[in-house]
Parts: sequence; C-alpha cells; structure tokens
Amino acid sequence: MAMVVSDNGSELVAKKLSFLALPLELRLDVYSRCEPVGLLTLTHTCRTMYMDINTSWRLIRAVCDTHFENRSFWHEVSTTASHRMLPEGSLPLIIPAIAYESFKDADETGTASTFNKLYGANSRDGREASLGTKIGWPWYFCECCKKIKKTKDFYGAFKNCGDCIDLTR
Ligand SMILES: [Zn+2]
Repeated sequence: MAMVVSDNGSELVAKKLSFLALPLELRLDVYSRCEPVGLLTLTHTCRTMYMDINTSWRLIRAVCDTHFENRSFWHEVSTTASHRMLPEGSLPLIIPAIAYESFKDADETGTASTFNKLYGANSRDGREASLGTKIGWPWYFCECCKKIKKTKDFYGAFKNCGDCIDLTR
C-alpha cells in the first residue's frame, strides 16, 4: 500500500482501489453498461462477479433487452440448466441462453471477435468440446446474421453459418 501525505502533513495509508470493493449497486450499474458477451465474460473472471451477475435477473434481462432484437429463447434454455453455486430457480447467463439471439450492435462492440476468440470453435473450450473432452457444443458467432450458433450450424471454414452462406457467394 502506498503512503500519501495529507494537507496537514500527516501520513495516510492509501487504500488499494478495487472494483470489487465498490457497493453492489455501483457494480451492478457498471455491469449494466456491458453487452451480453461482455457480461458473460465477466461471470468467468471471479466468484464475486459470477454471483453478482447471475443472481441479478433484472440486470441480465435489461442487458439482453438492450442488445437483442428479441429474447424468445431465453427462459426455455436457462431453466433446464443446473448451477450448483446459485440459488434454486436462478436464470444464469450462459451461452445456450444467448445463442440464436440476434445481436443488434455486434459490429460496433467487437462482440463477434471477442466471443469467437474466447468461446469459439478455435478457442481452448471449443477444441475440447469438439474432441469430446468437455461437455457441450463448440459455439461460433456468425458475423453475417449476428447470432451465436453451434458449430454444426456452420459448413466448412467458419465465418458465416449455413443460413447465411448463400448470401455471401
Ligand atoms: Zn448466420
């Protein structure tokens, strides 16, 4: 910790600033400015952020309302998943819950490249999933329709999914 000298000459111990030391309301306000992939990524950084975000259905809903064309698929997928750290009935932010949703603003935020780098077929998780050493499907973000889809929805080299491939010829 750094020492600082106040106006009257006494020494004060400067507290190390930490995002996690902020009150929950302020942390939730910061999270609310993220787009869904950014918010998902934060849930994977530490236990506190995982719990902050995944126990705030209002936050997740607001972020999805802002960034998705619609959220018809959300409830169906989330309620079937098991998440032991969360209270019963929680609807956590997981990839299947945001897959097949149309992202309104994926170009401006770099959402596709961020998602594909972290969770896409060529990421560590994606390679493990395709090898069967990790449960679940490898995912990929289609830059054409701006949706996260399972890699089985793509043909050949990734970039555009099967629904979009004819549009790019
Ligand atoms: Zn597509």
